[in-house]
Amino acid sequence: MNASSLVDPSLVQELVDANRILYNEGVLDAFGHVSARHDKHRDRFLLAANLAPALVGPDDILEFDLDGSPVVDTRRRLYVERFLHAEIYRARPDVMAIVHSHSVAVLPFSVSQRARLRPVCHMSGFLGSGAPVFDIRDTAGPATDLLIRDRELGAALAKSLDRHAVVLMRGHGSTVVAPSIRLAVYRAVYTEVNARVQLQAEQLGPITFLTVEEADATAESNEANVDRPWLLWQAKARLGST
Ligand code: MN
Repeated sequence: MNASSLVDPSLVQELVDANRILYNEGVLDAFGHVSARHDKHRDRFLLAANLAPALVGPDDILEFDLDGSPVVDTRRRLYVERFLHAEIYRARPDVMAIVHSHSVAVLPFSVSQRARLRPVCHMSGFLGSGAPVFDIRDTAGPATDLLIRDRELGAALAKSLDRHAVVLMRGHGSTVVAPSIRLAVYRAVYTEVNARVQLQAEQLGPITFLTVEEADATAESNEANVDRPWLLWQAKARLGST
C-alpha cells in the first residue's frame, strides 16, 4: 500500500479481495474498478493503480483525494475514470465503496429507449424504483469517448445517481455504490444477475416487478446476510489464485 497515512490493513485486503471477486464473478474483466472510502480520512479514497482487477495486490492500492489526485506522488499509471469515484464520495457521504463496471447483461438497459433496469427478484431489491441512466451527451455533447475523464463529468454522473444505489451509463456500463465494500460487491453481482433475469423474462411477455416497498424490504433482509456470499466468493477467488 502506497499511502501517506495509516489505513487499516484489513480494509486494503478487503479491497484487494473485492477486485479478485468481481473478476471471478464475471462483473469486471480487464476493465472496471472498485474503490473504498478511507477509514480515517473521509475526504480520501483507496483505488488501485491502472491494472486489470484480477492482478491487483496490496502494493497496488493508492490513496486519492476528492479531486482525484493521488495523495502521494506516484509514477504509476492511474485509471482515467478515477473522477467518478471522487465525485460520488464528495456528493454522497453515506457511500463507503464504489464498483464501476462494463458488465455485459446490464449494457442493453443503458441504451434501450424503452426498458429500464428494475428489480425483478428479491436479491436485487436495492434497485428500488429502477436505475437511472446517465447520458454523457447531456453534459459533454455528442463527440466524447464516453469516459468520465474529469471532475465535471464525475459530478454530472453523481447527480444522475442521486440517492440510488446504481446508475447506468449509456453505451458504457454502470456504477454501483454501497455503505461497505462487501455490499458494493454484492450489489454489483446482483445488478448483473437482475439484468440477465429481466432480459429473459422480457421474452415471455409483460413483467411483474417488485414494488418499491418490496424492494426496500427485500434489500433489508438480504443485505443483512452479506457475509454469506462474501465468504463464499472470497474462498473461490483465493482458491482460483493459488
Ligand atoms: Mn468505464
